[in-house]
Amino acid sequence: MNTGERVAYAGGEFVPEAKAAISILDHAVLYGDGVFETVLAWRGRLFRLDDHVRRFLRSCAAVALDCPVSGERLKELVMMTVRANGLADAYVKWILTRGSNGTPLMDPTGCVPNLVIMARPYIDRSSATGLRVKTVAIRRPPGQVLDAHVKSLNYLNLVMARIEARAAGADQALMLDVHGRVCEAPGFNVFVVTDGVLRTPRHDVLRGVTRDTVLRLAAELGRQVDETDLELYDAYTADEVFLTSTAGGLVPVVEVDGRRIGGGEPGPVLSTLQDAYLEALSSERWSTPIAGG
Ligand code: PMP
Repeated sequence: MNTGERVAYAGGEFVPEAKAAISILDHAVLYGDGVFETVLAWRGRLFRLDDHVRRFLRSCAAVALDCPVSGERLKELVMMTVRANGLADAYVKWILTRGSNGTPLMDPTGCVPNLVIMARPYIDRSSATGLRVKTVAIRRPPGQVLDAHVKSLNYLNLVMARIEARAAGADQALMLDVHGRVCEAPGFNVFVVTDGVLRTPRHDVLRGVTRDTVLRLAAELGRQVDETDLELYDAYTADEVFLTSTAGGLVPVVEVDGRRIGGGEPGPVLSTLQDAYLEALSSERWSTPIAGG
């Protein structure tokens, strides 16, 4: 099926990716109105696909968006997209936009949702040497403004954080919530390790699939884990700090606001977790073979 040309699912069919277009009247374009998911295909298997689909359907429910296909059909379509692109290791992204009702007005009445699925070769962008992160001025919104559990297309807050961090010469942004607690990095959850205990923020964060995987793996490895409130002090004084996401994996942080973490080197707890995560990616327990072909 793979002809070497990139293929995407859009408008209810598979088309060359370059021809997969959405209308300028789509409310995703006009208002960032839609939801999405990113899932990792690794060695011909999809990692925690059921969990991504479950989170996606909850995002849809939370923003009153009707997915035009069932969860089961969505899983099939995701697999078909990976196969159609001839990929074993892939970054798969699917988007459900509010759609258009023929006018540019901010009235969702009559909009017809549009499902788009794309797959790209997975590129390991994780930093082996570790990132230098900087706390940025812009804060993560509280749940009363935009619920962090919803993986919505409204990412301007995160994009602004990234721009701010890069402008200041840092590799990545560290974002606080409106109370000044450590929250997320743009597109990543945050972990700190202190005296062998793993801690991660619990308020106003996306419940990352990678975050959850790390919490479980660490507990299984006998580590104490804690979803809690974290102050900047906790990051500045941690033995290790790292970020997690589907696309990025487990990424070491070696500097926070000019403070060197763990002597400026990725730490041993992260290294053990990275090994466990790599094993988990292709385990029967958590990954689904890409069927058919
Ligand atoms: N937080 C935000 C805001 C995200 O967009 C993401 C995913 N890109 C994450 C955390 C990490 O989530 P996951 O591990 O499920 O990819």
